[in-house]
Amino acid sequence: MLNILIIGGGIAGTAAAEEVRKRDPQVSITIIEDEQHPCYSRVLLPHYVKAKVVRDKVFIRTPAWYVENNIELMSGVRVLEIDIENRFVRTSEDRELPFDKLLITTGGEISLLHDDLRGVSYLRTVDDADHLKSLISEVRTLKPQARCGAIYGGGFMACEYANIFKHFEIPFSIIMRGQGFWSRILSEHSQGVLADQVKQHGAKIYFNEPMPVLLGEDELAAVKLKNGAELPARILGVGIGLEIDHKIFAEAKIPSERGVLTNEYLETTISGVYAAGDVAEFTDTVVNRRVRYANWMNAQMQGRAVGATMAGERRAFRLVSSYATNLLGMHIVFLGDINRDQTDEIRVGLATEDASQELFFRDGKLVGAVLIGDVSQRAVLTQHIGKSL
Ligand SMILES: Cc1cc2nc3c(=O)[nH]c(=O)nc-3n(C[C@H](O)[C@H](O)[C@H](O)COP(=O)(O)OP(=O)(O)OC[C@H]3O[C@@H](n4cnc5c(N)ncnc54)[C@H](O)[C@@H]3O)c2cc1C
Repeated sequence: MLNILIIGGGIAGTAAAEEVRKRDPQVSITIIEDEQHPCYSRVLLPHYVKAKVVRDKVFIRTPAWYVENNIELMSGVRVLEIDIENRFVRTSEDRELPFDKLLITTGGEISLLHDDLRGVSYLRTVDDADHLKSLISEVRTLKPQARCGAIYGGGFMACEYANIFKHFEIPFSIIMRGQGFWSRILSEHSQGVLADQVKQHGAKIYFNEPMPVLLGEDELAAVKLKNGAELPARILGVGIGLEIDHKIFAEAKIPSERGVLTNEYLETTISGVYAAGDVAEFTDTVVNRRVRYANWMNAQMQGRAVGATMAGERRAFRLVSSYATNLLGMHIVFLGDINRDQTDEIRVGLATEDASQELFFRDGKLVGAVLIGDVSQRAVLTQHIGKSL
C-alpha cells in the first residue's frame, strides 16, 4: 500500500490529506504534528481572544474526522530528521516512519524574544491564545490607570495586538524596528496613513527601535527603549514575523531558500517530495516568479492542489494571493506580489489622508496591490492581477 506522510497538520497539510483521501480510499495517510491539537484556524485566534468566537469553534477538524477518513494524526510529535535516500523520517519519539511520498507543510516558526518574563505574549497557536486571554484577564483586574500594554512589531501581528488591546480598553504603545508599518513594502504615504490611524486612537508609536529591554522581576512591568525611556507594560505582544527552520531541509538536501523550493505543482526537485503552505517558495504562474506567501487562502488552496497531485491528478497551483486585515478599524488588503525589489514601477492609485492604494507593476503588467482605508477595488484588482500574464 502506498504510504503518504505529511509533516505539519495545519490547514495546508490537512487540506492535502483530505484531497488525497477523496481520490484514494486505500492509500495510507499519516499527519505528524508537533502541536497537541487537531487542525484549527489560526485566523480565528484573535477573534477567540476577543471572545467573539468560542474555543470549540476555532477547531476546524474533530478527532473523529481523522478516524472517519482513515487519516492517522500523530499529534505532539515532531519530525527531527528526513532521510531522503532511505525514504523515512525520524520523529521526536525516535521512531522511523517510512514514506513513499512526503509532503512538507511545516509553516513558519515565530521569532521569539527569548525572555521568560510573564507578560510576554506571542500569538501563533491556540495555546498562545489561551495564554494571552489569561494575561488580559489579569490586567483587567487592575485599576484602569494601571492597565497598559505594549506591542513590538510593525506588521500583521502588531495590527492584531492593537485590535485586541483596543477591544479590552488596554492603553498601549507600539514599538517598531522599522520606520513604519511594513516599512519594506509600503510607501511613506501608506505608512503615514497607518501611523495616523494609531495616533487617532491615542496610542504612541516608537520607530527604528531595537528589541526593547524587558523590566520586571518575574512579571513584566515595563519595557525600556534605546534612549532609556521606560514604558509601563503589563503585557508585551510580540509580532516580529515568521522564520523557516531550514536545518532539517538542509540536512536532507531538500533545496530551500526563503522556503522549500517547488515548481508550480508544489513538487520539489526530489521525486515524491512536495511542499505547500507558508513553508513553500513556489513558482507562482500568476506573477511569473518564485514567491513565498503566508496567508490562509494560499495555504488551504495549495494543500488542495498538492493533495490532488499526490493522488495522481497532477494539478498546477494558481491563485492570486490575498491577505486582508485591519488596524483599529482601518481595512488593509495585500494582493499578489508586493515585493518592492522585484517591481519595475509602483503607481499610486489613491493617496488621501485616510486611504492609500499602491499598484505594483513588472514588465508593464500589474502583479500586486496594496489597499489601505478604501478596499472597494479589491475584486477588480484581483481579477487584473490574475489576468495579467
Ligand atoms: C494569529 C494569526 C492570525 C492570522 N490571521 C490571518 C488572516 O486574517 N488572514 C490570512 O490570510 N492569514 C492569517 N494568518 C496566517 C495563516 O493562518 C497561515 O498563513 C496559515 O495558517 C498557514 O498554514 P500552513 O498549514 O502552511 O502552516 P501552519 O498553520 O503554520 O501549520 C504548520 C504546522 O506544522 C507543524 N510543524 C512544524 N514543524 C514540524 C515538525 N518538524 N514536525 C511536526 N510538525 C511540525 C506546526 O506545529 C504547525 O502546526 C494568521 C496567522 C496567525 C498566527
